[in-house]
Amino acid sequence: MLVVSGCLAGCRCRFDGDSRADPGIEALVNAGGVMMVCPEELGGLDTPRAPSEIRGGDGSDVLRGRARVVTVEGRDVTSAFLAGARRALELAEAAGADRAVFKDGSPSCGVTRIRDGSFTGRSRPGRGVTSALFLEHGIGVASEEAWRESVLGEDGT
Ligand code: SF4
Repeated sequence: MLVVSGCLAGCRCRFDGDSRADPGIEALVNAGGVMMVCPEELGGLDTPRAPSEIRGGDGSDVLRGRARVVTVEGRDVTSAFLAGARRALELAEAAGADRAVFKDGSPSCGVTRIRDGSFTGRSRPGRGVTSALFLEHGIGVASEEAWRESVLGEDGT
């Protein structure tokens, strides 16, 4: 079983109420055997919602209480991000999932990079909270770019 970020499958669950639909991921979902999750919605956050970034580290640091997730207005939403990550993991484990394709750059789903916490559009290497939790529980996580390259070849053909 493969888990995918809901926004990659066309769900309008992003903070701004939009999706980041990927035709390849949508085709996978339509073929069946794929589970969609949106950790931020699973954590009880509304859509649309204020954009959030991790301050003081990455998702692994959030799991250990060394970093926080805050909205652009400065509201601490760490508990919602942790709850959503844990719920997504519960669902994935119950479904027997062993891998995931997640939206890179997200404070929840980011695989190789996240925003740097300054809300200026800059990124830094690191994982989102859910990606970090999945990896710590033995579920492999790939970004949509890495998945696309593995399926289609590096030139995207
Ligand atoms: S939490 Fe993940 S699935 Fe939900 S909108 Fe953000 S990147 Fe997409």
